[in-house]
This record gives sequence, C-alpha cells and structure tokens, in this order.
Amino acid sequence: MTTTVIRNADWVIAWNEAAGHHFYRRGIDIVFVDDTITFVGRNYPGAADRVIDGRDRLVLPGLIDIHSHPEHEPLYRGVREEHGVRNMHMTGLYERSQAFSAPDDEARAASAEFAYCELLLSGVTSLVDISPAWDGWVDLFAKSGLRGFLAPGYASARWYLENDFELKFAWDEVRGRDGFATALALIERAARHPSGRLSGVVSPMQIENCTEDLLHESRDAARERGIPFTVHIAQSVNELQEMIRRHGKTPVQWAHKIGILGPDTILGHALFLDTHSWIRWWTKTDLALIAASGSSVAHCPTPFARYGQIMENFGDYLRAGVNMGLGTDTTPHNLVEEMRKAAVLARIAARDIETVTTSDLLHAATVGGATALMRDDLGRIAPNKKADVVLVDLTVPQMRPARDPLRSFVYHAADRAVCDVFVGGRQIVADGKVLTLDQRGAAERLAGAQRRMMEGVPRRDYRRRTAEEITPLSLPLAD
Ligand SMILES: [Zn+2]
Repeated sequence: MTTTVIRNADWVIAWNEAAGHHFYRRGIDIVFVDDTITFVGRNYPGAADRVIDGRDRLVLPGLIDIHSHPEHEPLYRGVREEHGVRNMHMTGLYERSQAFSAPDDEARAASAEFAYCELLLSGVTSLVDISPAWDGWVDLFAKSGLRGFLAPGYASARWYLENDFELKFAWDEVRGRDGFATALALIERAARHPSGRLSGVVSPMQIENCTEDLLHESRDAARERGIPFTVHIAQSVNELQEMIRRHGKTPVQWAHKIGILGPDTILGHALFLDTHSWIRWWTKTDLALIAASGSSVAHCPTPFARYGQIMENFGDYLRAGVNMGLGTDTTPHNLVEEMRKAAVLARIAARDIETVTTSDLLHAATVGGATALMRDDLGRIAPNKKADVVLVDLTVPQMRPARDPLRSFVYHAADRAVCDVFVGGRQIVADGKVLTLDQRGAAERLAGAQRRMMEGVPRRDYRRRTAEEITPLSLPLAD
C-alpha cells in the first residue's frame, strides 16, 4: 500500500457528488492510496509514503479523451492542416485516407508513442484509441501508463475515389467480419492485461461503411461485455447524402431505426445533423433522437474547423440533454486546446457568449467523457474515485495572474503549464516530461515513417499524384 499526499494545494477542482458539478477549493490536501483517492479536505492527519508540495499548483481531474486515432494522425503533421476537397464540401477525409496511410507497424508504433506523449503532456489520463488492430498496440499502450480504452476499428466497406466529387464504396463483408473477430480478441486481451488499466470499446468504423447486420452484432457484443460502442456518424455532407440515397434517412435517423443508439453508444462527431446550416434537411429530429436515446457525442472541433466547418452548436446539444464528451481526433493531441476551440466556436455558431461556459467544457472533458465510458469513478477529484490527477504549475507566465486558474489554463497556458500527471496513483509525467515513453525518439522515428508514407502516395492516389501535388508546402521552396 502506498499513500501519496498532495499537501496544501493552492487551487483544486474538486467534485461535489450531490451537486453534480466541479467546484474550486483552496488550500486543501488530496490523498490517494494506491490507485484510489481517499481524502479531499483540510489538514490530512495520517502518515504518507510520499508528500507533494501543492503550493503554486492547480490540481485538476485527469482529462478524458473519447475520440482519437494515434496510429496514424501524427503522420499527417504538415500534411493535413490545409488539405481538403472543395467538391466534397471541403472534407479531405476521403482523398487523404486513400492516398496517405501508415505504411507499416513500425510507423504505427512511432505515431502512437508520439501521440500518447502529447496526450499525457496536455493532462489526458484516459484515452479512447480508435485504430485498426496492429502488432504491439496493447503492449505500447500498457507501457504508456495511460488508462486505455482500446477501440480496434473494422468495417464492411472502404471508401474510394475515382474523381474528386463522388464518394464510392468497395464492399467486402468477409473482411468486415474478420475485422470484427480480430477486434473482439484484442479487446479480450486488453481487458485481461495485468495492469488493470486497459479495456475495450466496440468500434465499427463508420455508419456508412458497415452492414446493418455487422452494426447489430457489434452493438450486441458491446452490451454482452458491458463496454461502450462507438461509430463515426454525421461527419461529412457526403456521408449524409449517401445515407439519404440509400435509406431516405439521415445517418442519425437510420442509426435510431436500426436500434444502435443508447446510453452506451458514443457517436463520433455527430456534427452534420439535419438542422446544420450546411445540410438543412427538411426533418428536424436528429438532435432530439440522440438526446432521447441517451447516446453521447464525441466532439472534436479541430479537424472540422480546419475545413471551415463547425458544430451548430455545442450549447444546443447540451440544452437538448445530450451527454457531450471531447476528443482530439488529430494532432496536436491537446484536449485543452479542444476545450478552448469548442467554447469559442460554439459562441460563434450561436452568436451568443452565454451558449457555453468554461465549466461546461471542463465537464465534457472529464465527467462527460467518463459518463460516455460508463465509468463514474473517473474524471472527478473526490474520495473513492480513481487517482487520475493533473498538477498545473501556477507560476508559468502564461498562467499568471492566476486569478481564475481554470481560465488561465484553458484560454492561455494549456499544455505549457502541465507539470505532473498521475494515472491510477502512478506518476506518469514529472516536471513536464513523460516518464514511460520516449517522445524525442518517437519523433525521430515518426519523421522516417512519414517519408515512407509519402513514397507510397502515388501508388495509392486515384490520380497517381505525389504527396507534394496533393498537399503542397505552405510556402514555395526557393532555390
Ligand atoms: Zn475519428
């Protein structure tokens, strides 16, 4: 048994169970024994194996990222920020995923290690990692020290393009079933991992790429195991048009009809609802269907904002009664920046500063994510909750003046002020350095992996273009 005391913390974001929200507290002690918080209050009288000085610190619950793709997104750095296809309503998803893909498991390992470091350094302690199953994934995740919700992806179809305006589908139902079986085996392995920090999420990749049968069976497999179910849905205008072409229904309406919504379902993105200004479909039911089903939404503002797309809007989803969580989806894997963007973009969409508050965003990044993962022991600093805590340094210039340290953190300092991170009572980040992984080494290997990916682009692109032709540098390169 190991007892750790954070002594006399200057500011703490503590959870009040009865009120159902976070509060500031000042000058208190936080105690954890092994992986569980046992005391939150003034002047802890007991003995401790380790005492951490809480002066000049903000202590907040570890952040929960419920949507990410560490296996490849870091490989897209410098590639995807301004890549999109105007004839596909700006999304670059289909062209990019056809032309650019992790070339090998070594690339996946470098990419994931790099992403896990970014996540830890921005205060994420729980992560939903949606990736195709790859060798070494479970071991690397376990090594990272993160609390892992591994979501091995699979699908009955894959997208392909023959031009830049029509999204096509290559169906292979056997591949979908094989992928499903592989995913369940990997989830089983994760759940049995001796660390006790890993579990799984059943993750058919995209609503439009899976047969109704595969979605049903996936949903049942999640229910039988008591684990969450997630699927990408309403992530592009093309997807919505395809679902209307097939079923006469929006993706959300179809998901409702076939019975895959529910309190254990996490909807990846759910951005292009029938009421969205880029859609303006005649129905106005999508948001109410999501809310009534109890499904959660994983909101990831960054990748969409780069295309010029925003959720309309986060505040309306909350008021409709939807449980909102946040994800990073792409690089940078910085959930604090996602909180900031989600707040600002919601206010732009609503033309109303009061549509969301910083408190709403913190709730989404902690308790909202925990609810989506069906884990009421995460995302909260209170007795009997998991000891997943983040220490923010109030003395870094971007945090000062720390009159309202959560605002300093979200709107100013973000990851620059994260100094220490504990997951299940174990210190994973110390003085801004990840103790379990090698970020610099991963960055080196990532650069090589990106070069290998780029070499494969002309073979994969539907017009045989080079990476430079598809996504030129931001400035011309002079002689
Ligand atoms: Zn995604």
